[in-house]
Amino acid sequence: MANNNRNTLDIEAKHEQDFRRTILVVDDEPVNLRILGNILKEEYDIAYAETGEEALYVIKNQKDFLSLVLLDLHMPGGNGYMVLEEIKGSEDLRYIPVIVLTADESAEVESLRRGAIDFLNKPYDRPEVLKARVRRAIELSIDRNIIEATGKDALTGLLTREYFFQYAREYDKFHPEQEVDAVVVNISKFHLINELYGRSFGNRVLCSIADGIRSVARGCGGVACRSNADCFYLYIEHQENYDFLRKTLADRLIDISENHDIHFRVGVYPDLYHSAHLQQRFDRALQACNSVSKTTSLDMVAIYDNNMHEKELYEAKLLGDIEKALLENQFNVVFQPKYDIRSGEPELYSAEVLVRWKHPELGYIKPDFFIPLFEENGQIKELDRFVWREAAKHVRRWRDMYGVTMPVSVNVSRVDIFDPDLLEFLQKILADNGLESKDMHLEITETAYTDAVTTIVDVVNSLRDAGFKVEMDDFGRGYSSLNMLTSLPIDALKLDMGFIKGIAENNKEISMVEFIVNVARFLDVPLIAEGVENSEQYLLLKKAGCDVIQGYYFSKPVSSSEFGHLIERSGR
Ligand code: C2E
Ligand code: CA
Ligand code: CA
Repeated sequence: MANNNRNTLDIEAKHEQDFRRTILVVDDEPVNLRILGNILKEEYDIAYAETGEEALYVIKNQKDFLSLVLLDLHMPGGNGYMVLEEIKGSEDLRYIPVIVLTADESAEVESLRRGAIDFLNKPYDRPEVLKARVRRAIELSIDRNIIEATGKDALTGLLTREYFFQYAREYDKFHPEQEVDAVVVNISKFHLINELYGRSFGNRVLCSIADGIRSVARGCGGVACRSNADCFYLYIEHQENYDFLRKTLADRLIDISENHDIHFRVGVYPDLYHSAHLQQRFDRALQACNSVSKTTSLDMVAIYDNNMHEKELYEAKLLGDIEKALLENQFNVVFQPKYDIRSGEPELYSAEVLVRWKHPELGYIKPDFFIPLFEENGQIKELDRFVWREAAKHVRRWRDMYGVTMPVSVNVSRVDIFDPDLLEFLQKILADNGLESKDMHLEITETAYTDAVTTIVDVVNSLRDAGFKVEMDDFGRGYSSLNMLTSLPIDALKLDMGFIKGIAENNKEISMVEFIVNVARFLDVPLIAEGVENSEQYLLLKKAGCDVIQGYYFSKPVSSSEFGHLIERSGR
């Protein structure tokens, strides 16, 4: 194998000098080597091998420098098919294009099937033809490699979303009769995994889920991609049952995370009637996936069903009506009292302003249904501004009527935070009503804080500098670490309702609440509990040291005049 060293050195030296491409010619007959070498050497650098073994040695060591392999199929020491198979079967080598050289016409189809890009018949064509085919093969493979590189997600090696949809569309074109399922896989509490175990562990979780999905896609003849962060798409032939997917993914996770509590949710949209377009099918699979509780500690599969379809239609209707609703002002606000329970008798403390939509056909609609739609279509800013203006107007009216300035809290959606005129707008509506910034508290959800920490912290700082009190809403639903919490600017913590639902003496939930009470003490801010529905919950929260209570136990959200009466009676 004396030749190998020569080949190696030659190739590297040449590569340093200029950017001529290098071709490896493999043939056991020296005369053939010479013929091909002579035709091609003007344009390319040529390396030679006389056996399959020698060829593989050069290919493995010089894979980054080779632009093409010309491969004789019949040689001693392992025939050409063996070399071809090894190249095409290897993740590292399969990008190198191979043209096979053969005198045997029946071998042509077989070698193309095994991954050769082209073939040249012996005896060879005219040199110009041969050169043109070599050039074409190199160009083709460069194009293909560029597509492969840009089409793949760097971390997991799965397709990118864009290429995935291209492939999926192609698939539909060639298999119009095939029933295909759109599948979405999402890792539960992925933020938390990154936070608790570090990003590199998070990446391992993503890669092992990706591996599982890739093997399922291969096994079922489908395609897969990472759509974003911890969300994967899979497009495969219709399956009656998805237990196998759940099992495959769970097994992969056990391999890396026996001591960690990592779970995933799967949503499936089986398009039995080919009625929805591709994107819509994945939206529905995602909807099914989101129907599983985000905090579940099980691996769950949900199939898109009729209820989900009805919800989708309902939302589409609402979405279509938003424009008109804003124009016709179909909204009003209600007020839910908050009570201070620190001293003996609960004292009226404030109220949360909540919006309601009086839909002309559908009646009153609760914000849980429509706020996400307003956020989606970008009109939440308009709606929120309406609510804040109303809130200021009512605070002013109560003051005029009862001589008491009762501060209220309004919800500030994450979109508002990025509005450069936010502070100015708030100051203007307060000034218009003769109020001050301390008369309007701002509720910002915890998840907004974890989204874009630096921007939010800057905005919240400027709001607080201007005298606004900022309450962190739905605390405990997001995943802010305690570490981060100490550096966040806030004036109150509002405990997520989820914690209240299951509290009872001596259970896990109440110790969680006690823990959060301590966090609030540490931050030196009041803890507000919302969603308090009965006296048992109230007494437990009071005992745990909670400061302020909001919930049906005291009052449902009420109209402005009803809340006015509460102010009147509060004797403040
Ligand atoms: P939130 O800010 O967490 O508001 C509290 C929600 O809990 C309100 O629902 C309230 O009616 C409900 N609630 C209060 N006490 C109880 C109770 O004891 N038990 C139960 N089960 N629920 C209780 P609502 O009014 O339907 O609002 C839902 C969400 O919509 C709000 O959650 C808030 O995120 C959003 N939202 C409401 N109004 C506005 C607004 O003007 N702007 C924005 N951006 N979002 C709003
Ligand atoms: Ca709120
Ligand atoms: Ca809340």
